[in-house]
Amino acid sequence: MIKSIEMNRDKKLYKLEKVLWEVDYIVGDSARVNGPYCATEECKYELDLTHDENDNLLATCPECNKKIEFKCDLTTLKDYIGKRIMASMRSQHQVVSLDLPPTNVNVKEEDDNYWIRARIGQKNGKKFAIIYFGEQTKKQSPKDKVQFFIDLEDEELRHDSSNMPPGDIITGVKIKFKNSISERGYRTKS
Ligand SMILES: [Zn+2]
Repeated sequence: MIKSIEMNRDKKLYKLEKVLWEVDYIVGDSARVNGPYCATEECKYELDLTHDENDNLLATCPECNKKIEFKCDLTTLKDYIGKRIMASMRSQHQVVSLDLPPTNVNVKEEDDNYWIRARIGQKNGKKFAIIYFGEQTKKQSPKDKVQFFIDLEDEELRHDSSNMPPGDIITGVKIKFKNSISERGYRTKS
């Protein structure tokens, strides 16, 4: 065994089909997996494997005697588990849409009292705009600004509730999308 492929072990156990699997190594976009291991808490033993007359896999834990039957052989199962693990790793990746132009508008305007900043680009493969604005303060914190997310593809408007409530600065907002209009009114602080 070549030493360097050990580096691909990600110290994770993947639970699927009631047993545990781990990545042995990754070549290209396919993961070779080790396992199955017992999924019983505190056990994690390597399961003993046999095939029945229909080539279905039977896994037995030599430590706690747990038995699990599979409706396929070990090669088919490991191939499937490897693909599911790669899909799980891929799901954490950021999506960059090549269908969209590589726009990244980022503008800021300010005077002594207020500032506004707008960005248009993409977020997770979708056309997106973000508008923030706030009052000029010595030290800016998230609570000092209002933040709107505008999903230009699904035509949705929402504000970030962990920031300043929009009503602290404005009484309303209206966005005209291609096919719809989003309008919000806010109760202002008196
Ligand atoms: Zn066990």
